[in-house]
Amino acid sequence: MVHGEIDAIVVDRVVAKMVGHAEELDALDRAIGDGDHGTNLRRGFAAVRTAWPNGRALPLRAALEVIGRTLVTTVGGASGALYGTLFLTLARELPAVPGRGELAGALERAVAAVAARGRSAPGHKTMLDVLDPLWRLIADRARPLATETVTHCVATAAEATIAMRAVSGRASFLGERSIGHMDPGARSTMLLAIAVCAALTPAGPATR
Ligand code: ADP
Ligand code: MG
Repeated sequence: MVHGEIDAIVVDRVVAKMVGHAEELDALDRAIGDGDHGTNLRRGFAAVRTAWPNGRALPLRAALEVIGRTLVTTVGGASGALYGTLFLTLARELPAVPGRGELAGALERAVAAVAARGRSAPGHKTMLDVLDPLWRLIADRARPLATETVTHCVATAAEATIAMRAVSGRASFLGERSIGHMDPGARSTMLLAIAVCAALTPAGPATR
């Protein structure tokens, strides 16, 4: 599932997924934030496609660097800095062709960097509530790492944010009234994880 390079088709698929869900993410953010999360990410991921060298594959770390830098400078909002931190830390921490254990370790450190940047933690009703179980799944060699298991993990984690009271981010201003809505950043992280898995998996039942 982890390759030494990322080609333009993979990027196109992931970008299409994030752009395609912009309205849904804005609606989630309207309920407990300021309604711009999908618009922010659509701008950022469209810029990633523009920044990508035409039709080319990039080595994994260079690819993550391009994605991270582009998201930091174009997304805006809290999520721009946080997604930027995630990708730029992965770019720094991953070896050129990572195995499963190295991927888990790098993602663990990237998630810690996001938490430090956001002064937040799992349980605060943010993207961390999906990122944290995701690196733990990858680290747990007793569980298979396939599109189905990743999808189940991140979907369950995003659903779990509905019952949480927000402690970090804009939604925390609502206190108890943040309960009953899925966190938009948890949903976008879920979509991103599924899109990356599907884009890296050869065509077949797992990609549908
Ligand atoms: P903004 O809140 O500035 O409008 P976005 O709407 O783009 O930014 O992103 C909101 C999402 O960012 C939230 O749903 C949450 O998942 C995530 N987020 C916001 N603040 C934090 C934080 N301090 N720590 C972790 N995630 C955060
Ligand atoms: Mg917002």
